[in-house]
Amino acid sequence: MKLCMIGTGYVGLVSGACFADLGNDVICIDRDVNKINNLKKGIIPIYEPGLEELVKKNYKNGSLKFSTNISESVRKSDIIFICVGTPTKKNTTGADLTQVYKVAKEIRKSILKFKIIITKSTVPVTTGDEIEQIILQKIAKNFFSVVSNPEFLREGEAIRDFTYPDRIVIGTNDKKSNKILKNLYSPLISKGAKYINTSRRAAELIKYASNAFLATKITFINEIANLCEKIDVNAEDISIGMGLDTRIGSRFLRTGPAYGGSCFPKDTKAIITTADKFKTNLSVIKSVIKSNENRSTLLLKRVFQILKNKIKNKKICFLGVTFKANTDDMRDSSCLSMIPKLIKKGAKINYYDPTGEKKELTNLKNVFFSKDIKSAINSTDLIIIHTEWNNFKSINFKKDVGNNKFIIFDMRNIYSSTKMKEQKIKYFGIGR
Ligand code: NAD
Repeated sequence: MKLCMIGTGYVGLVSGACFADLGNDVICIDRDVNKINNLKKGIIPIYEPGLEELVKKNYKNGSLKFSTNISESVRKSDIIFICVGTPTKKNTTGADLTQVYKVAKEIRKSILKFKIIITKSTVPVTTGDEIEQIILQKIAKNFFSVVSNPEFLREGEAIRDFTYPDRIVIGTNDKKSNKILKNLYSPLISKGAKYINTSRRAAELIKYASNAFLATKITFINEIANLCEKIDVNAEDISIGMGLDTRIGSRFLRTGPAYGGSCFPKDTKAIITTADKFKTNLSVIKSVIKSNENRSTLLLKRVFQILKNKIKNKKICFLGVTFKANTDDMRDSSCLSMIPKLIKKGAKINYYDPTGEKKELTNLKNVFFSKDIKSAINSTDLIIIHTEWNNFKSINFKKDVGNNKFIIFDMRNIYSSTKMKEQKIKYFGIGR
């Protein structure tokens, strides 16, 4: 099938490359000329395991193309996926749909025959209705169908998630579109993915409700971990004990820093705004947001306690600064609220991240990037393990830090407290 992905970011590029690999003709569009030129040269704009190989392979064999020309690409395609960003609107909590509506207006200029227009971007309930109205202003009803097909991939595991999804959700009442999309996804359905056809509004809400639920699960175990710290219980035992109940499940039930990333923080806020619009109080999600916002403050307080409130001139090293491992995404990473508060108190921050230096941290005074773990932790006072990368799991701290007074605060519990004790290393985890 002939597909066009509008917005070549984490979602558009991954899904575009995967659709191409399944044998479709795909054009990935972006307004960012630099990004598109780089992609044509094989330079991948994001860190995502396996993506570079997939893009290069399919670009080389011609099934994946890159372009900045939206009208030409829409004309050539049968199915158009809108994959642009839906960030939080400035000074509000709702989703900013400017990019989505702008794209809808662009698309309507190039509809000469029947097109399926899909929102893969996460959009609030009724956005599909709005897009339909925008296009109807210029194009007759029988020339297009607006469908919701939310994306559930996770950064860091995006290709696997796209290729082996738990479910494919298609929100449309249009039988013709549903048939075409079932066919498009048939290679994934035959590998075990469940295919759900529902209403457009339901599909839009499934995405928000899923993200809000996962954010709730993380926040829930984080609060249980707070209690564990007070009663000498290991929160990991609680996670295992709870997670083995198949009604609960073990995923997203590990304690750590506040949840972050490009989805949970904005989507939990946006669903509240939608509910407010329809005069519904989502009180559980409201308290999840509040608890998560408090979490970075709480962990920062712990850092102060660990350093006995003597922060001035202390060398603090962050291992990992992205919101989770296997991604270079800094959006809403909890370290972005912690680091400025530490430097304000006079700390000097060194950080190492496997995905390199971060533009979000370059302009901060007394924040330095180290090219490897060894130089990052050298002669530091406190090491904060912020992200769970595999290469942080077997560090010889005693040898590499080079002083005897360093402390480790492991926000991901990747080391054993007992082993640290045996090595006489001052070590703190979470929920232990
Ligand atoms: P992103 O910021 O990485 O990519 C969006 C891209 O759209 C950018 O490259 C931008 O230049 C491009 N763009 C914006 N306006 C454009 C226009 N008018 N024409 C052409 N290109 C344009 O965003 P993302 O992380 O891929 O997220 C996209 C959507 O998917 C969001 O709604 C997000 O909530 C949702 N989503 C994201 C993830 C994730 O893990 N990142 C997972 C599921 C769903």
